[in-house]
Amino acid sequence: MPHQTPFPNLVLAGNWTYPGTGQSAAVTSGHMAGMKILAKEAARQGRS
Ligand SMILES: Cc1cc2nc3c(=O)[nH]c(=O)nc-3n(C[C@H](O)[C@H](O)[C@H](O)COP(=O)(O)OP(=O)(O)OC[C@H]3O[C@@H](n4cnc5c(N)ncnc54)[C@H](O)[C@@H]3O)c2cc1C
Repeated sequence: MPHQTPFPNLVLAGNWTYPGTGQSAAVTSGHMAGMKILAKEAARQGRS
């Protein structure tokens, strides 16, 4: 399941999202989702 949802401010993370199941994958998923949120916020504030 992708991190991004049809709702702009709802990003998913965890076992059922990319890159897959297991503790390491869940942590990676959370990191990737967090980075997506930070990138989006930076773009919103006009920073890249
Ligand atoms: C018995 C077992 C052994 C495992 N062994 C391993 C292993 O050796 N190595 C490995 O890599 N992986 C293992 N896994 C898999 C690993 O536990 C999961 O991949 C990982 O925990 C997923 O993390 P998560 O944060 O996505 O979900 P979870 O760890 O399941 O966290 C979800 C949290 O959300 C909470 N929650 C749920 N619904 C709500 C709600 N409505 N409101 C508020 N909170 C809610 C839950 O209580 C839970 O605390 C094992 C899994 C099981 C079941």
